[in-house]
Amino acid sequence: MKNKLEQLRQEALKQLEDLKESKSLKNQKEIWRALEIKYLGRKGQLSQILRQIKDLSTSEKKEVGAFANKVKTEIAEAFSEFENKFLSSKAGQSQVDMSLPGKRSSLGHLHPITLMQRELEELFKSLGFSILEGPELESDYYNFQALNIPEHHPARDMQDTFYVNWEDQEDENKLVLRTHTSPVQVRAMQEFGAPLKAIVPGKVFRNEALDASHEHTFYQLEGIMIDKNISISNMIAVMKELLKGIFKEEVEIRIRPGFFPFVEPGIEIDMKCRLCQGQGCPVCKQSGWLEVFPGGMIHPNVLEAGGIDSKKYSGFAFGLGLTRLAMMKHGIADIRLFNSGDLRFLEQF
Ligand SMILES: [Zn+2]
Repeated sequence: MKNKLEQLRQEALKQLEDLKESKSLKNQKEIWRALEIKYLGRKGQLSQILRQIKDLSTSEKKEVGAFANKVKTEIAEAFSEFENKFLSSKAGQSQVDMSLPGKRSSLGHLHPITLMQRELEELFKSLGFSILEGPELESDYYNFQALNIPEHHPARDMQDTFYVNWEDQEDENKLVLRTHTSPVQVRAMQEFGAPLKAIVPGKVFRNEALDASHEHTFYQLEGIMIDKNISISNMIAVMKELLKGIFKEEVEIRIRPGFFPFVEPGIEIDMKCRLCQGQGCPVCKQSGWLEVFPGGMIHPNVLEAGGIDSKKYSGFAFGLGLTRLAMMKHGIADIRLFNSGDLRFLEQF
């Protein structure tokens, strides 16, 4: 029986020794637990031998019993030592198995309009323009009156406006969701004076009936350049440079007269339709041309509202539809996709 005990002792210690070589902590723990049950458990091998001691003679009982206790203590100590050294010391690490492949967290990306805006900002910065912003909830004064659009002027009908109804408001302070980025023209003149070269990208709002080309919320980019001797040819040069920057090639344009109360003269710049190369298609309504920016020479009344001497300085202003430009660049037929939050659309950019 002593031999059996000795054999058991050696076997148990040897298996523990082998277990130290195991690489995987999870397996190590499981095997350790299984071995502990196998040797020290209530129905384990050691218990089975100990149970036979009662059948021995009194002298044998004493000798074998003492030896069995020694073996049991030795194995139990070896197991608890193994647990302390190899399992608990790694317990902190066991929460994270560094050898497992990681989970890649999905990152979002910029919206196509933001991408367009950033591209234009870079372009204008390279031409020496600063980038400004203004409030989206604007006063009636800056949105209309300072831009040479007095109350009851028919030009207000060109923009379906969201008015904000607050009682006790003086007309001048009446608030509107800005219908264009142009109010920042006067704000910028008041703040920085002349000379001034700036763009204002931002969100604007109109009370539109929604369809494929009309949205209540869209993006514009306003630009102004004020200095001595600025003429409309400066504006055309900047516009051409801009289109070249966006479409990465020379873009053919044409200029038509246009009416906007805050410029005089006012012009519309059209570019040759890139989809049909000027042959006529549904997107350009068969004309071969697409309207891209309205603009013109800043009206003297607007310069004066901004505190700039209109006899000394002149300047041009333009407003371009960031949303429309993004539609043209990517061939997007429905404006409503931009605000839809539809990932099938957004993930294409
Ligand atoms: Zn076309």
